[in-house]
Amino acid sequence: MKKVVKFGGSSLASAEQFQKVGEIIRADEGRRYVIPSAPGKRFEKDTKVTDMLYACYAKAEAKEDFSEELAAIEARYQEIIDGLGLSISLKEEFEEIARQFEAGAGKDYAASRGEYLNGRLMANYLGYEFIDPAEAVFFFDDGTFNAEKTNKALSVRLKDTQTAVIPGFYGAYDDGRICTFSRGGSDVTGSIVAKAIFADMYENWTDVSGFLVTDPRIIENPEVIETITYRELRELSYMGATVLHEDAIFPVRKEGIPINIRNTNRPDDRGTLIVESTCRRPKFTITGIAGKKGFAALNIEKDMMNAEIGFGRKVLEVFEENGVSFEHMPSGIDTMTIFVHQTEFEEHEQKIMAGIHRAVEPDSLELEADLALIAVVGRGMRSNRGVAGRIFSALAHANINIKMIDQGSSELNIIIGVRNEDFENAIKAIYDIFVTARL
Ligand code: ASP
Repeated sequence: MKKVVKFGGSSLASAEQFQKVGEIIRADEGRRYVIPSAPGKRFEKDTKVTDMLYACYAKAEAKEDFSEELAAIEARYQEIIDGLGLSISLKEEFEEIARQFEAGAGKDYAASRGEYLNGRLMANYLGYEFIDPAEAVFFFDDGTFNAEKTNKALSVRLKDTQTAVIPGFYGAYDDGRICTFSRGGSDVTGSIVAKAIFADMYENWTDVSGFLVTDPRIIENPEVIETITYRELRELSYMGATVLHEDAIFPVRKEGIPINIRNTNRPDDRGTLIVESTCRRPKFTITGIAGKKGFAALNIEKDMMNAEIGFGRKVLEVFEENGVSFEHMPSGIDTMTIFVHQTEFEEHEQKIMAGIHRAVEPDSLELEADLALIAVVGRGMRSNRGVAGRIFSALAHANINIKMIDQGSSELNIIIGVRNEDFENAIKAIYDIFVTARL
């Protein structure tokens, strides 16, 4: 078994957390390649080391004294070193960082030091080899990830390496300058390492026991999703449910390597398994519910619209010309509705309305604001009759008016539009009928 194990910032925020991580790694011989994030928050109002580094570098860039800020960062690491009783010293590393900050090494270099130093500590603590991703993870000059070069370099570098710590989040341009992924990018590093070594599993350890059926701010203690496919995950993430960096999916997905989301604070929980496809039946008919507020709908009516070839194209062209993307487009015989993000639309509202008047001469054009979209997602819906019916009756019982429904032909999701103010209650009603009622 070859496993890549990535630990998020909260899993590595203190010596106590490091110890939990150590136990997890030692509990399974397969956990041979470790990807650490930078130390995250120890308590709610705490600051992540990555944010401290950005702030510190901003001072250096402004030619202000940054010694206090850098000392505070050093103290975070020293606290971990002392708590673990390690003898490693980061003094020289911090002197080098100070020099690089003064020389203007860049924001990405600054942020990357969070992972770099945590990787040094982790390698020392575990007795694993340290591999600097600056030598194995590469970016093109425009800052996009160079997948091919990275995959080659990583597979060569790791071929004969039994155990290694490879910090997440960063790599380098061809000339050696440091470049980072976007925030949360250690997830991506884990994924590309898993691909390079043909891992059996990519374990992503965080502070929740997996992907939840819905938002815990709306439903108290929602159920955990046991198995989810990449497509379902994408649908739910798009609608705002996040546990994993979006780009972490692509490298492993193509290789058929499953991702297992696990909880460092509850290592016995099985977490969520993310797979390409599965014949495992989901526990409930639906896999998850996610949604977002803040949409507007533009209703267009015109007699005989259905006979007018090119009508839809002309309307959408107006949106395109104004650089506004649309989310959904349910239509009737002589009506068409376009759902857009309200804030994005507001800036161009008058121009778009005028453009549509000119382009298709509608009989009426109406705008409705403050709408929410809810995605009910699940591969189990395909083989089940009456899913939509149950959603509608649940919403009717909760006195919620449905503004729109849209079911993709894949039958993987049903999108429902409701008023913003009905959003939470709608999610509760759907959760209750499919999950609570089945427990
Ligand atoms: N430390 C980085 C961040 O805070 C990357 C990561 O944690 O994945 O975004």
